[in-house]
Amino acid sequence: MNASADDGPIAPNGTPWWELTIQPDTRNKPFGQERRLAAWLWYNKDIGDIFTMNELRNALGEDIVGRSEHLNRRLRTLRQVAWIIWSYKDDASLRPDEYRLQAKGARYWLAEDRQAHRRFAPSARVRREVIDRDGGRCVICGIAAGETYPGEPSNIARLTIGHRVPQERLRTRGTADDIENWRTECARCNEPVRDELPDPRQYDEVLAQIRRLGRGHKRTLLSWLQQGERTRSEVDRAYDLARTLTRNEQIDLITYLQTSSASSS
Ligand SMILES: [Zn+2]
Repeated sequence: MNASADDGPIAPNGTPWWELTIQPDTRNKPFGQERRLAAWLWYNKDIGDIFTMNELRNALGEDIVGRSEHLNRRLRTLRQVAWIIWSYKDDASLRPDEYRLQAKGARYWLAEDRQAHRRFAPSARVRREVIDRDGGRCVICGIAAGETYPGEPSNIARLTIGHRVPQERLRTRGTADDIENWRTECARCNEPVRDELPDPRQYDEVLAQIRRLGRGHKRTLLSWLQQGERTRSEVDRAYDLARTLTRNEQIDLITYLQTSSASSS
């Protein structure tokens, strides 16, 4: 059996994909609950739509939703195959039982799409290594998990990992993915490019700020823009490390810095 992109919401046995409990081309292999969830979201929700736990419960049954940890595990699986689904942890304007669909990922209910993405999905170990290597910050904008975006106190950053060379190109080359091709990105920088209308007034304001920078800072900014990534200075890295210390250790450190900056100036 070969399901293709145009097969639509109805599985070969005549029921919608999200109502299947048994795989259509087998006698009794169970049809995974993540697959039902992905199919339901794909055909019933648009990008930007909010859905609630109750809505999922009504559409898919209690066994898929269960308690919120249960549902969160299923959503995590979909996030690993490029779905972007926000909860109140990503956007404080959402209630704890609400989620917003930010981007649709792999058509997980189709066997071949699921396998293609699985092969390129990073393991939890790779994810941890990459995020540690990058100092726990988005390499594009520099935000750390749990921080809020400048000027948007309700938008909390969550880190994910993304590719330097796009997945599609690797797939056509048939090369295995290695850790150097992964980089830490926040969910926002990881989003597909947004089509926004340019606002010339905004450009002028940005340019005015940039003009005020010294030559060294201009050069740094140029390299960040050219690379599409920002580097972090020695002070930035020291600050990241200092923040991993306990409160008491931080107080000791503050005392140390107060005395050493007083004596060296
Ligand atoms: Zn970012």
